Amino acid sequence: GSPVCECNSCFEGPDCSQFSPDCIADVDSGDPLFLEPFWMQNAASSAMLVAGWHRMSYAFNKKSLISQVLENQIRKLHTAVGNAVTQGRFIVFGAGSTQLLNAAVYALSPDNSSAPAKVVASFPFYPVYQLQTDFFRSKDFQFQGDASLWENNSDSTSNLIEFVTAPNNPDGQLNKAVLHVPYAKAIHDHAYYWPHFTGIPAPADEDVMVFTLSKLTGHAGTRFGWALIKDEAVYQRMSTYVKLNSLGVSRDPQLRAYKLLKVVMEGSGREIFEFGHATMKNRWEKLSSALSVSKRFSIQDIAPQYCTFFQTVRAASPAYAWLRCEREEDKECYRALKKAGIIGRDGTLFGAGSSYVRLSLMKTQDDFDMLLHQIKKLVAEEDDMH
Ligand code: PMP
Repeated sequence: GSPVCECNSCFEGPDCSQFSPDCIADVDSGDPLFLEPFWMQNAASSAMLVAGWHRMSYAFNKKSLISQVLENQIRKLHTAVGNAVTQGRFIVFGAGSTQLLNAAVYALSPDNSSAPAKVVASFPFYPVYQLQTDFFRSKDFQFQGDASLWENNSDSTSNLIEFVTAPNNPDGQLNKAVLHVPYAKAIHDHAYYWPHFTGIPAPADEDVMVFTLSKLTGHAGTRFGWALIKDEAVYQRMSTYVKLNSLGVSRDPQLRAYKLLKVVMEGSGREIFEFGHATMKNRWEKLSSALSVSKRFSIQDIAPQYCTFFQTVRAASPAYAWLRCEREEDKECYRALKKAGIIGRDGTLFGAGSSYVRLSLMKTQDDFDMLLHQIKKLVAEEDDMH
């Protein structure tokens, strides 16, 4: 007989070619599945088989908790991409960059001081900075909100710790530190500082820089991140944190990260970035063009950047659209979109107004196609109303 067609929830009809009217575009999470096709193309070279006796010990040779070959590979990768200076930097590994964000807050905070360090970020910012800092409720650090409120702070008795996210989650801007007083320290979160998402104008050269495998290769589930640190005392404190918290990153993800990064650097060392950038640029162009005629919705402007890696000016390719509902009746933008079958992330979670919603562009092609479909439908209805 004829094959039975099993359509996913957004398609119907005999050959699954018609969009279902009650399809939901779930573009809430920052799951980087857009890179899945790259790894399908490179399935054999990235595959791993680990014998049962392998890597059983707590430690690598020389009692280290981190793989030396992986550390070398990471340094080589940054040099090849030109997105960070690794000379004169120490490296700490973490269970994703998530573990390292709080390790860095701890490391930059005073010990047992009567005045806890004030932890701040520029709005809109990645919510985990606040959630984590509040959750760990230390005597040594406290989340204090918007960085710009402390720009002219003259109380030098307590330290300031500023999270600087470049490119920023949610809006894709290459943020810079806003605090420049001597007792302000910064944690530079470069999760998205790869050619998939932005031109690379220059190698990042800050004192504390955090990176993650999640948005580089897309292996968010491997839970592997690293920090490049200039100051030895800060490095020691971050190492202590990771050691006491989990005795270092599990050795198995270290092996997997090494295997994946080797594939990243194979051939010209450009394939994954060409694929990543082409995919994200294509999605951004389609979404921008669908919204260009809308008076109801707008998305952020992202200037084209010169990219030292591709040696050319690159069109915008951000990880997220930071969408704004322009009308008074849509000021609960998250709800307006949800009614139209789009699940984003409410702008209030990022410290912005409820007229903003973050839409993830990093999920699978199906997820993106559903989003685009629902957006086009909304914009077409706008025309009908005129
Ligand atoms: N920083 C930023 C800005 C992020 O967007 C994310 C993930 N969404 C992270 C850090 C944490 O990622 P991971 O723990 O997977 O490295």
